[in-house]
Amino acid sequence: MNATINRNEINRNEINIDEIDKEDKIRRIKNGTVIDHIEGGKAFSVLKILNIGENYDGIVSVVINAESEKHGRKDIIKVEGRTLTRNETNKISLLTPIATVNVIADSNVVEKFGVEVPGVIINLLKCPNPECITNSEIQSDSENTDISKNLRSENIETKIYTISKKPLKFRCHYCERVFSELEFK
Ligand SMILES: [Zn+2]
Repeated sequence: MNATINRNEINRNEINIDEIDKEDKIRRIKNGTVIDHIEGGKAFSVLKILNIGENYDGIVSVVINAESEKHGRKDIIKVEGRTLTRNETNKISLLTPIATVNVIADSNVVEKFGVEVPGVIINLLKCPNPECITNSEIQSDSENTDISKNLRSENIETKIYTISKKPLKFRCHYCERVFSELEFK
């Protein structure tokens, strides 16, 4: 008999907050969101996608390249005092598909979920079609400067639909180009 044992190695339901703290050795948070199992080295890109930058005034702890028995190395982000929504955290699935999100309230994990590729992706990916309106250059009398490029990217948001999650396939709202390459804006 050719039986296959389906070993469920990742039983994340059993992880509690003490284990998260033991694993990453950074300050315990009382309320907020912990994003764990971020692919090693990608924490800063994740922060950018979450719009947590120099103007963010809450406390954020970041661990880069923590040891992970299952995945080699991983990054961890703890955002204190803020509950990130699934809409916010799902965006990072394109960058790091196995990340897990822990919502912490009164020092307890009250919700835990994996990230999922969103159905509609706004202004995060580029459309690969050079003729697409979202890639069009702004006409200007002067030469193309960096300023005009900045204006261009601020003016036209990309809107891209996920038409398949496995394998990843997208369709541009504007030019309807179907593609699978991931290029972040
Ligand atoms: Zn397009």
